[in-house]
Amino acid sequence: MQSPTGGHPATPRRLILATRNAGKLTELRAILDAAGLAVELVGADAYPDIPDVKETGVTFAENALLKARALAEATGHPAVADDSGLCVDVLGGAPGIFSARWAGSHGNDRANLELLLAQLSDISDEHRTAHFACAAALALPDGTERVVEGRLEGTLRRAPAGTGGFGYDPILQPAGESRTCAELSPEEKNAISHRGKAFRALAPVLEELLG
Ligand code: IMP
Repeated sequence: MQSPTGGHPATPRRLILATRNAGKLTELRAILDAAGLAVELVGADAYPDIPDVKETGVTFAENALLKARALAEATGHPAVADDSGLCVDVLGGAPGIFSARWAGSHGNDRANLELLLAQLSDISDEHRTAHFACAAALALPDGTERVVEGRLEGTLRRAPAGTGGFGYDPILQPAGESRTCAELSPEEKNAISHRGKAFRALAPVLEELLG
């Protein structure tokens, strides 16, 4: 965007992140800063009147796009959204998009994890491979859309370990690690996580379209 005089705008472009999670905002802000991208990043909290979007897609990418598109249309600003989950190979990729409500109630992390462990109790160590997946979508008010993805591969423990993180972190041991995600520091996890990878892959896309 250019000012009427043809120079650069005095204020950086606003970019909305479709989350009410302060941790995600901090993570994306650090990645954009590292990429030297001068955008003003704000969370969906800045627009309290805009209702949450129903995640009716059947892939992480579709759900991320639904959220980003709705926010870009409602605010008139470029918007980023992410959608993520745990994909277990022996379950054909489940819980996948159902990760947050695997045990029925949305967001009950402990119940989700206990149910998954019970379902996998007879599965041998060599077949306990899984990955976290994250799709990050960018939507512009003019209809331009992009999606990038990131993964964190690992294996599933038989019992939870660690107190950090959230969700399935206490049972996912990243490949090449001896600790679970819940035993890593936030910085260690961001460096290898599905979300960190997807957000970092988004930086050059943002640079191309907004820079
Ligand atoms: P959301 O996309 O952030 O809403 O995450 C959906 C669900 O996937 C969460 O409720 C968790 O169960 C799971 N999940 C996504 N990312 C992670 C992670 O980094 N660690 C543990 N669980 C995760």
